[in-house]
Amino acid sequence: MRKVAILGSTGSIGTSGLKVIRHLPEELSVHSLVAGGNIDLLEEQVREFQPKVVSVFDPLKAKELQKRLPGVRVVSGVEGSIEAATEADVDIVLCGIVGNAGLLPTIEAIKARKKIALANKEVLVSAGHLVMALAKEYEVPILPVDSEHSALFQCLKGEEVSSVRRLILTASGGPFREKTAEDLAKIELQDALKHPTWAMGAKVTIDCSTLMNKGLEMLEARWLFDIPAEQIDVLVHPQSIIHSLVEYQDHSILAQLGEPSMITPIQYALTYPKRLPSPLKSLDLAAISRLDFYEPAYDKFKCLALARESMKEEGTLPCYMNAANEILVERFLNKKISWLDIGNKLETLMLKHQNVQNPDLETILAVDAQARIEAKTI
Ligand code: NDP
Repeated sequence: MRKVAILGSTGSIGTSGLKVIRHLPEELSVHSLVAGGNIDLLEEQVREFQPKVVSVFDPLKAKELQKRLPGVRVVSGVEGSIEAATEADVDIVLCGIVGNAGLLPTIEAIKARKKIALANKEVLVSAGHLVMALAKEYEVPILPVDSEHSALFQCLKGEEVSSVRRLILTASGGPFREKTAEDLAKIELQDALKHPTWAMGAKVTIDCSTLMNKGLEMLEARWLFDIPAEQIDVLVHPQSIIHSLVEYQDHSILAQLGEPSMITPIQYALTYPKRLPSPLKSLDLAAISRLDFYEPAYDKFKCLALARESMKEEGTLPCYMNAANEILVERFLNKKISWLDIGNKLETLMLKHQNVQNPDLETILAVDAQARIEAKTI
């Protein structure tokens, strides 16, 4: 029985993680739950899964939850997330916090030698070199949860990384794939929140609409698989059935296919290396009948081009871009800036950033904070 700590249990990844645990009670159980502030849902989850410890980032909400659940250990803040992730009995941590808020709990979980099932891609985008080095030092596996990276992980199994020619990340293309540059200037918030194939949290849904999500995934793949930037490509595949592909030196291409659901990659990460029965139905390829592919439009989707650039530059630029993007997306969600402003303002900010190579954690945290301040006012 694997005991799981879920960071971000009230979010899209967290609730799918709980579905997997509910479906495999012989294999998995909940040890701890961590959320930002949605204590109504968290209370329901605590009553059902009876974790040993619960953390709420917001201390006032943590107090309120403690009143509602007097017999349960409730902690708060970043320290609370860390405590929940590093308790002695935890075997594996599902990192499903959104944004860079997941960085410190993930680092501490690695130091406590917990297996990591990583959905929180921003952790590798901003500090990939540090996190992967730490995982190596503490001999901790980082099991990808992002569907594309889970696909790559599966296609790479048993192969030499030196025999890889290209990692090909598939992208649905988001809701605006067929829009003209003129249409993109008129996009409203509700249009950007409608994803054609995946149901996810608000931040990642907006990142999918700008294709920043795919850019962040390129960086995630670069660190996760230790592959140079030039060997990572993106291919638009609107049906989201092929989750990613690996091309080898002999030009053979291996792909992983499945329903567009996070249940499969979450279950694979939590039960790895076992492949257990799924609550999903079989993929019906005859019913799907066709799979389409296109080159991504780097000129129309500036965020994707900026992320690719930051991957080549390395240093603090990806961290800066990631934090600035988080704030710009928040401003778009609050209707303070337009959809096109996300990419335009990000480009202006990134051009001014003084890149520092091989940053340590202190520098990463300082750059992250600086990017947030600058992105709030631009
Ligand atoms: P959601 O917005 O749905 O959920 C985010 C979760 O993080 C919530 O439980 C939220 O709590 C919690 N949270 C936010 N801030 C803090 C904090 N400071 N401390 C503790 N908990 C916090 O996001 P998603 O589930 O969609 O995405 C999570 C991560 O997984 C992202 O990095 C995303 O890119 C990645 N991912 C998501 C996929 C998906 O299908 N959703 C697919 C692949 C990757 P509360 O709600 O209580 O505020």
